[in-house]
Amino acid sequence: MSLPISSIDVLIVGTGPAGSSTALHLLQQDPAWAGRIIMVDKAVHPREKLCGGGITHLGENVLTRLGLPFEPTNFPVREVRLVYQNESYSFRGNPAFRIVHRAQFDHWLVEQVIGRGVDVHQGETLLEVTPHETHVEVVTDKAIYHAKVLVAADGSRSRIRAKLKWDDDSRVARLIEVLTPESPHAWEFRDGVAIFDFSQMTGAGLQGYYWDFPSIVGGTLQMNRGVFDSRARPERPKADLKETLREALAERERNLDDYTIKGHPIRWFDKNGRFSQPRILLEGDAAGADPLFGEGISFALGYGLVAAQTVQHAFASGDFSMADYRQRIIRDPLLRSLPTRVWFAKFAYLMKYPWFVRWGWRMARRIIGWTRWRDAAYDVGPVRGREVVERPSYVPNKPLPLLPAPTTHFGGGQRLDGEDRDG
Ligand SMILES: Cc1cc2nc3c(=O)[nH]c(=O)nc-3n(C[C@H](O)[C@H](O)[C@H](O)COP(=O)(O)OP(=O)(O)OC[C@H]3O[C@@H](n4cnc5c(N)ncnc54)[C@H](O)[C@@H]3O)c2cc1C
Repeated sequence: MSLPISSIDVLIVGTGPAGSSTALHLLQQDPAWAGRIIMVDKAVHPREKLCGGGITHLGENVLTRLGLPFEPTNFPVREVRLVYQNESYSFRGNPAFRIVHRAQFDHWLVEQVIGRGVDVHQGETLLEVTPHETHVEVVTDKAIYHAKVLVAADGSRSRIRAKLKWDDDSRVARLIEVLTPESPHAWEFRDGVAIFDFSQMTGAGLQGYYWDFPSIVGGTLQMNRGVFDSRARPERPKADLKETLREALAERERNLDDYTIKGHPIRWFDKNGRFSQPRILLEGDAAGADPLFGEGISFALGYGLVAAQTVQHAFASGDFSMADYRQRIIRDPLLRSLPTRVWFAKFAYLMKYPWFVRWGWRMARRIIGWTRWRDAAYDVGPVRGREVVERPSYVPNKPLPLLPAPTTHFGGGQRLDGEDRDG
């Protein structure tokens, strides 16, 4: 059976935060983009996405500039406690960050896109990509697209990246996670505390941390617990993630065998890596996220703005080389912190000596004592701080218009897709 061929200006593959943010930023620029974009995702929202769901003020700022109030259910964290053995220090805020359930958050975001008139094809999988001089041919299991521009927002296991033969596995962080049902009396829920425990960094060789994130999943309280191994130092031996998680859970009087472990990688940022080729942009996890804390949602939202500016510029100038995309990423007030985080991750996760880490923790405690982060009433966001003030003047700051007639292509209703086994 031959597949129908559609010609379109912009094809966005992936409806995670990066893909939805790109569409929303184009629409903010000009609502007429609605008829010029098609989005495709192999999953049907609300789909499961393995993630801690922590969104900092960096991501909230992007949403606020888009004129989107933070509507999805979230758990506001008032204290972020960083632990190393018997030392700890805390960042406080009201909230310090928010924890969402990704199935709900991503569904809400894609509904904002659909509500503004964009055609979103859910339950459709990209299979092949062939770049041509005048367009990019994309074959899915349902159609063939001839797109003037392809935006690859298909996550850390990007098939587009693999098909273009850009793959490089040296920059992939490993993460595993479990959800444990909790009582509302659990102190972390009562006090709004999220924990990052770096105790396994020395000894066990974990290049990262164990986390406890209090979460609200489908109206129930669950602790999102997991281990992040950045592999910022890929030349070093790999830590045993399952054993690390088992030990951390045992300390919390829980048995790992009682829960279902799931794992998924994060590709991290490399300023010398590849982000584009003529008519094709990579963004979000497909391009690279943060190896220090594994923060990816805020950056995915931030890539959306930069990708939208690049697409807008390509159509306005007729130059589809996408040659300036890397520069735009590196100059962007939000994304430019990624190279710094890579540097810190390479430095921090080299650390072998417990006495040195303990000293660092004591210093950090003092330093925070001099900042607003010591204050539980500190209102971090949204739209505060340097990042926003430095926003270049060409970035529009108008709210998104709502179009009356949404176009939906909801393949399978409200099914919750299985875990994203391959991306
Ligand atoms: C265990 C874990 C915990 C994490 N915790 C946090 C956290 O607390 N805070 C934080 O900021 N970040 C966290 N991250 C990182 C965060 O999840 C990612 O950085 C973020 O999801 C990236 O968004 P994205 O839009 O680039 O990609 P994704 O959210 O992965 O979206 C990619 C989309 O592409 C679709 N897709 C993939 N392949 C195809 C195909 N062939 N055809 C069509 N569609 C396709 C997928 O279905 C998916 O909807 C965590 C990651 C993991 C693995």
